[in-house]
Amino acid sequence: MGSASATSRPGRRADLHCHSTVSDGLLDPDVLAQRAHDNGVELWSLTDHDELSGLAQARQAANALGMPFLTGVEISVTWASKTLHVVGLGIDETEPLLKEGLANLRRGRVERAHQMADKFESLGYPGVFEGALAFAGNPDLISRTHFARHLVDTGQAKNMQAVFDRFLKDDGPAFVPTKWATLEQALAWIHAAQGVAVIAHPGRYSYSELQFDALFSEFKDLGGLAIEVNTGSHQPWQFKTYAAVAKRYGFLASCGSDFHGAKESRCDLGQVPVLHPELTPVWHTPALREQLQGVAADLFQ
Ligand code: AMP
Ligand code: MN
Ligand code: MN
Ligand code: MN
Repeated sequence: MGSASATSRPGRRADLHCHSTVSDGLLDPDVLAQRAHDNGVELWSLTDHDELSGLAQARQAANALGMPFLTGVEISVTWASKTLHVVGLGIDETEPLLKEGLANLRRGRVERAHQMADKFESLGYPGVFEGALAFAGNPDLISRTHFARHLVDTGQAKNMQAVFDRFLKDDGPAFVPTKWATLEQALAWIHAAQGVAVIAHPGRYSYSELQFDALFSEFKDLGGLAIEVNTGSHQPWQFKTYAAVAKRYGFLASCGSDFHGAKESRCDLGQVPVLHPELTPVWHTPALREQLQGVAADLFQ
């Protein structure tokens, strides 16, 4: 035991990042809740891209299973001309500023999807808009993932990664640059909704070292509190890298699978390794602690 309170704190099977059919995941929110519970998740959040409409069902299912739940969203941001994802945790999903901001973000997606389909057509792949749309559970949220699924399903690509590598990665021949929210807007919406802002999977962005430093500093100045350290979107060797970043900048640490579907995701719900004991988990911040204390006091032992 010894100094157990310090060492046992983060050792919780938390999964604070995943996607349902409301954005680009393959399972409905209640099915995800069941899967998370079956996999031993002790604290769960649903974080669909730019959309809150799965949260009511997710919460209801999590409550019925007795699994502590936090609301969540993954907001698309453009920073230094590249896409960055910011997760908001513990947000009040009825907050008008957040709801309107996300509704505005979603509005551009259908037009962008038509432009991507035009590019695919000129590359010799017709009918891709209709194909992608058929995979989108929520047409407002049509995303690159749905294009990739269509091309794999029709045998035109061997897997999702191949579609991204060949066509859809940033600067790929079918990629259409989009202006998402600014970092300032995303954090203003999250904070208006009394949530906590988390930089999602920092290891996935191709910023320079100088840019990363500017990003982390700006995020902190805007009231951002945490970064994802252990995520299914990092290679395992990156867990250490971002644990060091969290310590260096004084960020809390979050963890999540970024699960989209069984065959597609590197990491299933609840399978991401627990946070290193020297990190302070994001759910220890007062705003989240207050929401959880009544239902999951053991998370703080
Ligand atoms: P969008 O919001 O339309 O730009 O689509 C972004 C989504 O594409 C991400 O949330 C991931 O689910 C997916 N994605 C991005 N890069 C890759 C990749 N290399 N392999 C598979 N999926 C990816
Ligand atoms: Mn996604
Ligand atoms: Mn993401
Ligand atoms: Mn995600």
